[in-house]
Amino acid sequence: MSASGAALTGATGHAFHPTILREYDIRGIVGETLTTADAYALGRAYATLLRRQGTSRVALGRDGRLSSPELAAALAEGLGASGAEVLEIGLGPTPMLYFAVHHLGADGGIQVTGSHNPPSHNGFKMMLGTKPLFGGTIQELGRIATEGAFASGHGRRIQQPVFDAYVDRLLQDYAGTRELRVVWDAGNGATGEVLQAMTARLPGRHELLFAEIDGRFPNHHPDPTVPANLEDLIRAVRAGGAEVGIAFDGDGDRIGLVDGQGRILFGDQLLQILAEEVLSRHPGAPIIADVKASEALFAEIARLGGRPVMWKTGHSLIKSAMAEMHAPLAGEMSGHIFYADGFYGHDDALYVAIRLLAILARGEETLAARRDRMAPMINTPELRFDCPDEAKFAVVEQVKARLEANGAKVNAIDGVRVTTPDGWWLLRASNTQAVLVARAEGHDEAGLARLKDQIATNLRTVGVEPPAF
Ligand SMILES: [Zn+2]
Repeated sequence: MSASGAALTGATGHAFHPTILREYDIRGIVGETLTTADAYALGRAYATLLRRQGTSRVALGRDGRLSSPELAAALAEGLGASGAEVLEIGLGPTPMLYFAVHHLGADGGIQVTGSHNPPSHNGFKMMLGTKPLFGGTIQELGRIATEGAFASGHGRRIQQPVFDAYVDRLLQDYAGTRELRVVWDAGNGATGEVLQAMTARLPGRHELLFAEIDGRFPNHHPDPTVPANLEDLIRAVRAGGAEVGIAFDGDGDRIGLVDGQGRILFGDQLLQILAEEVLSRHPGAPIIADVKASEALFAEIARLGGRPVMWKTGHSLIKSAMAEMHAPLAGEMSGHIFYADGFYGHDDALYVAIRLLAILARGEETLAARRDRMAPMINTPELRFDCPDEAKFAVVEQVKARLEANGAKVNAIDGVRVTTPDGWWLLRASNTQAVLVARAEGHDEAGLARLKDQIATNLRTVGVEPPAF
């Protein structure tokens, strides 16, 4: 075909690397599976999607990774070439982009971010309207790009910083009289500058670790679900006699929490504290947690007069369920916590920190004392083990069929969560990685051991060697 022949359609197709269009976002290794050409094509495809809906204004943000400026520039160029008006909010955490979509009344938003992944990775998290863009719609973007079925146009690019408005919005919901001592760890991620501005105006005493945004992550990896990444925070909390330690992941949509004794509180423990306050104003409301959460959380929600809802793991899925059920609060073990009460229903870890500190500052009880009041949980952490992508869902299906044939009590909303007289165990396939995820929680140590045996037995029966746990 001649060059002029191709020019008749105005565009040629662009194929993304098959591994980067994922369930909840686009993610790849820069220069290998993800290039500026991909960013440009994504911009064109995304703008085409907006134009089909008769809309065109998109907010664009980026994290502090070294590759983010050039990916954002290519993305903006692609958006403009397909007729989108690009509102550039600049450097900041992913939830600042979510905020910008609401604040600016944009028709959608894209954040250039590699979240908590290694420095060489990067990617895109997207909204369409005020909803998360995920699953089939990400595949649709891939199809538009492959076909080269791009809309064309000349969209403007406008610098539209929202930093000050965002910090104001975060602080708006803080009220409390007790002075708190807090250590914060931004892990050199994209929250750093917002965190500095926010804590400068927050009552109490605040010590900041690694608040300089640095895409090389020179101190520790910005992923607070890994206990090793909380060691610096725990040390600083103990050394400074602080009551609370708070960490963020690389793009600020997940929170890590440590009490004054240096003990880690996971998402299902933090949610117990947050649910108490929310339910005091929304009696009977649904509170959503993912299938990995402790039974202690669901029991506590019920005890507080709320309606506990167990849902699928995955931030986009939880956000969608939350909107459907009008739930004021939701969360995941992984530290994604979502406030619709007083906020927009998305996962903003800085906002969650503000709400938690406000609860503590309005009362006399310390975080450690509050934790001591929680029902004891005898459980494993999240156990992740390798299983090929093409096999992982089939393994879970086979285990489910076997359990059902045996009359087990199974909740199959996401994998299998099996309740026995000893407690419960979970087996599910990750939507984002080639892994299976297991967890168990018993009423006592002996029961927990029996539950772990059940996981191992069930895996062996379908031909999978269980992990050591
Ligand atoms: Zn994140």
